[in-house]
Formats: sequence, structure tokens, C-alpha cells
Amino acid sequence: MTAIDLTDIPLVDNHCHGILRRQPVGVAAWRERFTESRDPGMQREHVGTTLLYRRLIREMAAFFDCASNEDAVLDARRGRDDDALIGDLLRAARIEALLIDQGYPPPDQVVPDAELGRLAGCRTFPMLRVEVLMQELIAAHGILDAVVEALQAALVDVRAEGYVALKSIAAYRTGLDIQTWPRQEAQAAFDEARRQAVETGALRLAHKPLLDTLLHVVFREAARQDMPIQFHVGYGDADADMLRANPLRLRAVLEERAYRSMPIVLLHECYPYTREGAYLAAVYENVYLDLSYGIPFLGYGEMAAFTRAAFGVAPTSKLLYSSDGVGVPELHWMSALHGRRILGETLGEIVAQGDLSVTEAEAAGAAVLRDNATRLYRLD
Ligand SMILES: [Zn+2]
Repeated sequence: MTAIDLTDIPLVDNHCHGILRRQPVGVAAWRERFTESRDPGMQREHVGTTLLYRRLIREMAAFFDCASNEDAVLDARRGRDDDALIGDLLRAARIEALLIDQGYPPPDQVVPDAELGRLAGCRTFPMLRVEVLMQELIAAHGILDAVVEALQAALVDVRAEGYVALKSIAAYRTGLDIQTWPRQEAQAAFDEARRQAVETGALRLAHKPLLDTLLHVVFREAARQDMPIQFHVGYGDADADMLRANPLRLRAVLEERAYRSMPIVLLHECYPYTREGAYLAAVYENVYLDLSYGIPFLGYGEMAAFTRAAFGVAPTSKLLYSSDGVGVPELHWMSALHGRRILGETLGEIVAQGDLSVTEAEAAGAAVLRDNATRLYRLD
């Protein structure tokens, strides 16, 4: 079996996050970047033994040309200034464009997009996390109709605001079974959310009838503008009730004809629901499946397995590469290195099995790494 060589294809990372302005220094703060768990014992005892972490330490040792252990690579990384570290890693990843979720980490903690683009030698495009916008509007307006109106106004021309996509985290707040609620229930949820915002000065929007109601406002605007929306699906945040984060739960939204002009990107290969996500990409014209190689934190073999599963059922025109890298540049970098390699190896297997010719496999590799995202998000 000969792998398809995708090394020279510049990639579009269709979903990632900002990189922390102040990089972690100590081992605990560093390890925290490689788990979704909030249990303190996870970082102390267990993170260091995941396959991803062992592979990362070895790759970093090769990159920094130092001994292959955690102390040595952390010393080597502290030995470079943060800008040089970020620039060297991201340039080595051959990135053409980063699509950056502005919702996390908070903007004041990350390297500004323009500066990140300069360091990495790539273009950057912002994506709007709709729940953050909703929270601001609920804090600012005392009545539900005013929030709906303000939300509509804020989204009236999303591209003119500079965004290439919307992003929703409903999966780990209230679930993907987004419903239509009677006015009374939406109002009661709004009153509750307002109380929280006013009394605590902060709002974590997890009031289902309200969030669902506002999401329908977002969907109407997105559909009118053919604006893609990314949904977090499956693995990712400890908040997620994984049973409610199954992409099959999106059925009501997918079946709504009025929303068919809104492209839907299911993030993180819907892990562990990759087959479900790939199936949806195969049956709904407007559904795309993101293949993310930085987070979830998986071993190489498991990433190869989800890649195979996705190619097995979804059209290759529906698959998009990402890292979901966040905080430290190593995630964006190693994802690019290994995502490219896994795609090349998987396509090599597919050629050996007779599904694609070499030329078709090369085109499919370029499509997943770059061309599909360029077209979908109108990056040209
Ligand atoms: Zn993300």
C-alpha cells in the first residue's frame, strides 16, 4: 500500500481557537491543555499516559532536537520566546488559513487574530459563537422581544461583519434536540436567565426553551444568507451530556425545509458518533462533517479509524479538515502533521482497495485539506 503524499498541500484549518498570549510555564498548566477532564487527579496521574500525550512528547523532542521526555521538551519550549514558538510551529504546519472560534478562550487572553496570522504566515478568519452574543443581549435587554430584535439586527449581514461562519455550543448546554417552544415557556426561561444575569452579573445560557427559541432566530438569518453554522458535536467539553450530543438529535433542524440553505458543519467527527455524522453528511445536502485531528485527544490508530469510517460513507466533497487546536500551538501543529499523514495513508488504502484511482485520491486529499473549506466558507 502506498500512501498518497499530501505534504505539500497548504491546509485550511476550518475550526480552531486562539493561542494564549501567555503560554503555560509549569507542568500542571501545560498538562491541563491535554484533557477535557476537570478532575484534578487526571492531570496529575493520568494525562501523561495517554497515547496522544506520549506521541506529542516524542514529536516535540524531534522538533526541538532535545531528549524525548516531558522535562526536556518543556525546558526547550520555555527557551524560545512565545512569538517565536508560535511562529515556528505554525509555519512548520503549512497552514494557509485558520478559521478561529472567537467564543473561547476570551479575546483578551489570546494572541489577536491579525498577529497570529502574521506569526503563522497565514490568513485568519473569525467565526461568531452565537451563545456569547445571546448572553450579551440578554444582559442588555429587559424584554424577550427586544432580545430577539437585537439578535436579528446583529445577524442581518454576518459576512459584512467579517465572519465566515457561525458556531453553536448548544450540544453541551441544552442538547442538539432543538425544539420549538410555546411563547409562555420561552418567556419563563427568559425571566430566569435575566434574573441570573442581573443578580450575578454573569450569565451562562443553559435555559433550553430560551436557547432553542433564539437558535431559531439564528437559523432563519443563516438560511437567508447561506451562512454556514458549525455545531459542536460529541466529545469536547466536560459539560457535554454525550447522550444529548449525538448528531442524530439534530433531526428536527435537518428536516426543516426552511433551513436547507444553511450549511451545517458537524464538528469533531462527532466523536464517538462518527458513523452517525458521516451518515447525515451522506443524506442531507447541507450537512458537512469536520475531521478534527488535535482534539479529541486520540491515539493515531483511532484517528485513522474515524477517518476510514468517514470516507466509507460520506462524499469526499463533504469532509473538512480541522485541528480544534486551542491555547497552545502544539495542537494546531501536530494535528496538521498527523492529519495530513493519516489522510494520505487512508487514501492510499482506498486506492489499494479499488474505490479511487490515484488521481482521484489526490484530489480527495486536497478537497478535505483545503478546497472544500475554501468553497464552503467563500474564502477566495
Ligand atoms: Zn472548538
